[in-house]
Amino acid sequence: GFKCGIVGLPNVGKSTLFNALTETAAAQAANYPFCTIEPNVGEVAVPDPRLDKLAEVGKSQQIIPTRLTFVDIAGLVKGASKGEGLGNQFLATIREVDAIAHVVRCFEDSDITHVEGKVAPLADIETIETELMLADLESLEKRVDNLTKKAKGGDKDSKEQLELVTRALTLLRDGRPARFLERKPEEERAFRMLGLLTSKPVLYVCNVEESSAADGNKFSEQVMARAKEEGAVAVVISAKIESEIATLSREERVDFLDTLGLHEAGLDRLIRAGYELLHLITYFTVGPKEARAWTITKGTKAPQAAAVIHTDFEKGFIRAETIAYNDYVTLGGEAGARDGGKLRLEGKEYVVADGDVMHFRFNT
Ligand code: GDP
Repeated sequence: GFKCGIVGLPNVGKSTLFNALTETAAAQAANYPFCTIEPNVGEVAVPDPRLDKLAEVGKSQQIIPTRLTFVDIAGLVKGASKGEGLGNQFLATIREVDAIAHVVRCFEDSDITHVEGKVAPLADIETIETELMLADLESLEKRVDNLTKKAKGGDKDSKEQLELVTRALTLLRDGRPARFLERKPEEERAFRMLGLLTSKPVLYVCNVEESSAADGNKFSEQVMARAKEEGAVAVVISAKIESEIATLSREERVDFLDTLGLHEAGLDRLIRAGYELLHLITYFTVGPKEARAWTITKGTKAPQAAAVIHTDFEKGFIRAETIAYNDYVTLGGEAGARDGGKLRLEGKEYVVADGDVMHFRFNT
């Protein structure tokens, strides 16, 4: 599955947000730094109204949404790359995630200690990013000697790698995260193999006080402007509100959001933003037993999409009976779509589209 790591300075609201996300008390929020010691892992359902509609049309008994994994990563403080705070422990965890949700404190509250003494979101972002860049610099510098030796010995792969590493080093030394490295599509694989922390796509989460949840505040505006500048995604959320919403029923939730002038829970926006950030799309399987959503990366072909359900589906793949979401709904389900000529038989090279309703045929 796809994993999103939650990072940020201590006391910015990571645990509060994570708890709200997973609706568990697994990560206890408390008013002092380093409260979340072990990385906490939680799965969240990706909200998708299309799935409810499909279940209704397909008369499915059960609805199973697709899921994203969130990891609450603690211990990121100034000096962390040099072993301060929880030290290097968090680095390994960050390496494993596909994207980073960077929580930034945009609320003022004199009762909650700010590790840097004042609310300054852009400076906080720099602090975190600097630690990640320092860690990347160190890991790249370690590799240079060995790669140089091999490249001199005539190894072509090492030569190419060294060239990439050198460019990344130049960028990082210039104070710029590795995700901004200009690279050709054919270098993408090698780039990913470097496993750099600052190569992951970033989503900024502005944690604002309750009264600013609808419109944001002067702090979140600063973060939004920065995100826009670097082509990143940012969302405004009140972790406090989200943690209150998490305990409500669906109907109560709508009413509660209404009174706050919000149309949608911030977490739903956050989850969807994470989905976009990772270039993920959803396809569906619909039957009398269940209507289910599955996550794949944009550009995935039918057999690999089938593998998400079961590896046997990929090995024995014959074809995929495919109906576009709108056709399925307007023609009243599979039989209607078939009669209407909207059920397509797709082969191995078919690139699955967002919203496709799929039925895989395979040899066992
Ligand atoms: P973490 O260290 O980043 O995981 O931060 P926590 O989630 O543990 O939050 C630290 C403290 O800030 C807790 O006492 C939270 O209740 C409080 N907190 C979190 N979000 C908000 C917020 O939006 N407004 C206010 N006033 N307090 C918050």
